Amino acid sequence: MNLCGHRPQPRYATLATFRDANGLPLDQGILLYFPAPHSFTGEDILELQGHGGPVVLQMLLQRCLELGARLAEPGEFTRRAFFNDKLDLVQAEAVADLIDASTAQAARSALRSLSGEFSVAVDGLVQGLTDLRMLIEATLDFPDEQLGADEVQISNKAADRLAQLRASLAQIRARAQQGSLLRNGLSVVLAGPPNVGKSSLLNRLAGEECAIVTELAGTTRDTVRETIQLSGIPLHVVDTAGLREPGDLVEELGIARTWREIEKSDVIVQMVDARSGLTSEDERLAWQFPSGRHSRRVIVHNKCDLANLPAGRREEDGQVHLYLSALTGAGIDLLRDELLSIAGWHEHGENAILARERHIGALASADSYLAQATVEWSRIELCAEELRLAQEAMNSITGEFTSDDLLGEIFSRFCVGK
Ligand code: GDP
Repeated sequence: MNLCGHRPQPRYATLATFRDANGLPLDQGILLYFPAPHSFTGEDILELQGHGGPVVLQMLLQRCLELGARLAEPGEFTRRAFFNDKLDLVQAEAVADLIDASTAQAARSALRSLSGEFSVAVDGLVQGLTDLRMLIEATLDFPDEQLGADEVQISNKAADRLAQLRASLAQIRARAQQGSLLRNGLSVVLAGPPNVGKSSLLNRLAGEECAIVTELAGTTRDTVRETIQLSGIPLHVVDTAGLREPGDLVEELGIARTWREIEKSDVIVQMVDARSGLTSEDERLAWQFPSGRHSRRVIVHNKCDLANLPAGRREEDGQVHLYLSALTGAGIDLLRDELLSIAGWHEHGENAILARERHIGALASADSYLAQATVEWSRIELCAEELRLAQEAMNSITGEFTSDDLLGEIFSRFCVGK
């Protein structure tokens, strides 16, 4: 009223003049009024759409603050929606994931979570677990020696259900694993001497997928990472071009950073010239790469067109060699497939659930409790307890059973105004 002189009609876009304390116009725009409970948060919401521009917006904001409003905290709208049961935790997280999505596939996957697909899958499992626990509790009162035909039948039925639940959980985990790839991508190190064709290969990989080549924000001279898309998966490519003798301190710092990236990488693509094959210089470089559980090495023999070699894939003592030409594009598919297969990407990525680490952890815990329940099948009390724990783990995903600390952390990572 004080701002625009009248109470807007609910859920209608109303043209209004926004005024200051003296009744002077600040801006003209649209008012949208959503009375509770039919709003995003479930509370009364008034939305003002002004012309924008920092000064006008600041004046309008100031006027709202004068009238008693306060600035929202990061994620406050979504948090309120969560506490008012408009969204469960998975959906609330999907709001942030949708905004942060770095590829179209990731965005689609986040939207599926937001519309409840992941929640429905989790709720289905929780319901199954509840039913199973009721069945099991029903047999708890009967010691083994007194089990009659009915109880044996119940026990067999329960065993079948447990097996089904484990199979459904395995499916959800596989989908979540795919989603984790969409979210986190694959980190690839491109190593090799100057002129071997690293930039050409990167461009070729990027070009084939119409990818956007981005630089890591905030970096200039020490940029070591570029992100391209491969079948919708972000591929973070670390260039080792800077791994030469440091010229000055800045370069030295850049080199140290490159090595840290290499340590964290999932795959090392070592490029060699197909005409010379793996030289002792290449071998020396390879020795310095981490051989731990993460990195897998793929040796790319580039410029196979100049070496008059056909494009192809060869495996020798478990080491993959690919022959290709970044210039002509021959064999690029092989590299693409190799990277996707190392990442564990399946063609049916459209079912992916854009799961977060915490979801993946909860699904894994639920799985191990279910496995333990199977082991404890004959000791029914222990089995019942494992099932209870599995249910608790599943419930933590949708926020039925989640600590305040965790909730605080999840919402604090949202941006302001969401
Ligand atoms: P980088 O220094 O490792 O990044 O190498 P570049 O990508 O800049 O390539 C060096 C030169 O090799 C350029 O002139 C490229 O056109 C050429 N080149 C790269 N890949 C191939 C290839 O597969 N075949 C042929 N014939 N030339 C290539």
